[in-house]
Amino acid sequence: MRQDMLIAQGLTSPFKKGDESAVELQTMALARLRQLSAHEVGHTLGLSHNFAASQIGRSSVMDYPHPLVEIDKFGEVMLNNAYASGIAQWDKLTIKYAYSEFNEQDEAQGLKNIRKQISDSGIPFITDQDSRAGSMAHPNASLWDNGSDPSEELLRVLKVRRVALNQFGEASIKNDVPWSTLEKILVPVYLFHRFQSDAAAKLIGGLNYEYSHRAEDTENKSVKQLSEVSSARQQRALEVLLKTMSSEELAIPKNILSMIPPPAYGYPRDRENFTGNALPSFDALSAVATAASHTLELLLDPSRAARLIQQKALNPNNIGLAKVQTDIVNSSWKKSTKYPYLAEVQRNINWAVLKQLFSLAVDEEATPQVRAITHLSLRELQSWLKNKRSGSTPQKAMLIQAKKDIEQFLNSDTKELVPSIKPIPPGSPIGTL
Ligand SMILES: [Zn+2]
Repeated sequence: MRQDMLIAQGLTSPFKKGDESAVELQTMALARLRQLSAHEVGHTLGLSHNFAASQIGRSSVMDYPHPLVEIDKFGEVMLNNAYASGIAQWDKLTIKYAYSEFNEQDEAQGLKNIRKQISDSGIPFITDQDSRAGSMAHPNASLWDNGSDPSEELLRVLKVRRVALNQFGEASIKNDVPWSTLEKILVPVYLFHRFQSDAAAKLIGGLNYEYSHRAEDTENKSVKQLSEVSSARQQRALEVLLKTMSSEELAIPKNILSMIPPPAYGYPRDRENFTGNALPSFDALSAVATAASHTLELLLDPSRAARLIQQKALNPNNIGLAKVQTDIVNSSWKKSTKYPYLAEVQRNINWAVLKQLFSLAVDEEATPQVRAITHLSLRELQSWLKNKRSGSTPQKAMLIQAKKDIEQFLNSDTKELVPSIKPIPPGSPIGTL
């Protein structure tokens, strides 16, 4: 409830005067509790999670719902539709299947009819095993996501995040609250897109499938039980995910930074804050690296990488691992940024890219071919760096250091060369049961 209130507060910055009651925050948190109550009763009645339901019109309370935050016609953040109310179609059909009573001779046919109704509803059932890990592949199944198309929803969520960041500041805290607490309220706003990124990443190297059983009447029916997510959808997901690691999206506005002093006495940082290197100040650049790494870990996951290679082998039109890595490097190291602050943000993203390439190149879970392609990407970056003319002093320093690090890495294969990125703070909209 507290986490939900925090999200709502950061997104709406409702305290223009500082003493408003901001009842909409509590309304949203209570809507979430109401939804959660239905969810837990669903478990008691025997239902599993269905993480595909949020993509088909919020069709089950057994998904994990992310608040569906919208922008109204005045450009204001709106929480009215954050959570659905009532139980939904998939819940009704599955309860009907579990609890309908039939005469003994009618039961088999009766259950078969309900199964057909479930199938005809078009709502897939995909549960924890295919949804929780960021490495998974089902395009419909994610926790804390919304919308029918994960990539387009991610773009929409980034727009909501931008509106929230633009108004973030004095109105994000009540009167008599330390300014330094803005740092904690900023976290869920800054990372507002994180769970939708998880959903979009599932499209890359993604697979459409269900827990299908052989049917009685398979004659003349296709036995094909899975298909790759189309190349166009994979490419689009990549394009949108690269936005989540762009300097323009990740640079924390300077006016926000100017309002956040080191923690006030009695209000220490805790695990819900960003951790940083620039103590005691709020480390705006470390937060950038943390956010970029969230996307990079998804894109350069060893299972996803292996699937990309397999899909490319089966169909040359698929994007493949090499192209994913080329696009990542082109959108980071090879991007030139003029303004000093944005350029420093970009350098932090670049180091995060390098670290993730190093990690994948020596990942024990990665196949030899995944590691080979990743090494090749590093060699290509190395030769690009050799011919690169440097600009400002920090830029020059980065280029020299990167050349040295890559060379040393390629000679020794150790991922300890680039300092670790600070971990992402926890931020699920509510406890996960
Ligand atoms: Zn549950």
